[in-house]
Amino acid sequence: VSPLDQRAVRQHNLSLVIRHVATYGVRSRAAIAVETGLNKATVSSLVAELIGRGLVVESAHTNVGTVGRPSRGVELAGNQIAGIGLCITEKHLRAYGLDLTGAVRFDESLVRDNPSTPPHEVLTDLATLASDALAAFERERITPVGVTVALPGLVDMSTGKLFVAPNLNWSEIPVVDLLRERLGSVGFRIHAENDANLAALAELWDGAGRRLRDFVYVDGGFGAGVGAGIVAGGELFRGAAGLAGEFGHTRVSRRGPRCRCGSRGCLENFAGWDALIRRAGLNGTGEDSVEILDVLRARAEAGERRTLEALSEVASWLSLSLVSLTNLLGPQAVVLGGCYAALSEWLVPRVEQDLRLSLSAPWSPCRVLVSELGREAAIRGAAGLALHQVLHDPTAVGGSFSEDRPYSDRTMFTPRTSSVRLAAGE
Ligand SMILES: [Zn+2]
Repeated sequence: VSPLDQRAVRQHNLSLVIRHVATYGVRSRAAIAVETGLNKATVSSLVAELIGRGLVVESAHTNVGTVGRPSRGVELAGNQIAGIGLCITEKHLRAYGLDLTGAVRFDESLVRDNPSTPPHEVLTDLATLASDALAAFERERITPVGVTVALPGLVDMSTGKLFVAPNLNWSEIPVVDLLRERLGSVGFRIHAENDANLAALAELWDGAGRRLRDFVYVDGGFGAGVGAGIVAGGELFRGAAGLAGEFGHTRVSRRGPRCRCGSRGCLENFAGWDALIRRAGLNGTGEDSVEILDVLRARAEAGERRTLEALSEVASWLSLSLVSLTNLLGPQAVVLGGCYAALSEWLVPRVEQDLRLSLSAPWSPCRVLVSELGREAAIRGAAGLALHQVLHDPTAVGGSFSEDRPYSDRTMFTPRTSSVRLAAGE
């Protein structure tokens, strides 16, 4: 075996062990060995390296796993590294830090009217939020491992350029380059990705223990837009150019209002948040979508007719599109997120009823689920992206380990656990 192969095997096995711990929680070395098929001495050596790199720690818990005498386990380290998610929506900027255990280490946002602000000003404010996060990490001695910006539009992942975001009135903005200029030299990569894709990844990674592999995350924004992230076989489906998932611009009518994308009759003009509150007569009732949502829910609970009709209209357009989607893709589930999750009581029954009309429904019914990630779905996915890259290649952090160090594990095993594939930079 060549040294290069040996390094690749070592890296693969480090990743296998840390992903096993990430998936199943506290584990003894003996349990990891049995459950991954690696031999025990190899596991001890791999765990020692992961501890040295600051990625796992000895756990206070004992007697974990399925076999062997009671012994101390290891678990993911919570205070060593963190990923940063940044988010630009129509009305907010947000920075969010997540550590390996999934704990939130930073969360700050600004209310902004982004569509009427020049992009370079928006990105200056976003960079300031990011700098605040980096400063907070420095105080806590946490190493940032990457930044991902969630954007409500078509993103070129290879360059970090935003092609177009109709609801921001932005086109051809080199978001990652502009952020890099503003942040100066940072020792990690900066990515940009579509926000609904990131929300789908967050659902894939920590979706309430559902372990879905084939689903569509439908992201109702608290603005004009409706997005979707498609997960097929446990991986994000991106399409030929990485631009798939523009569910909001699927056409549901030949007529209908002109959409900001230039087309006509797009779903989001019938089923988006802005369309909903307009139809419910709530335009201008409070600027903040949190307040508007409270009013909307209160009116629906009180049985106010106009509100219920508006919700029923949205449910009907949404389910019309979802029937097409499930006929086409055959997912296990559609997961409703964003404003659709917040209003699920009034939407889910109609969507469930209509999805029973999919041809395959009698044999493979598609479940209708509600995301539990709230308004954090996309930004959790953004912050989690860099962390998942570390789970994929643990040698990317804790550089004190020499790449030439001797090692003994020679057998490469295929992970028995569902592999956490990375969206970017593979
Ligand atoms: Zn459109």
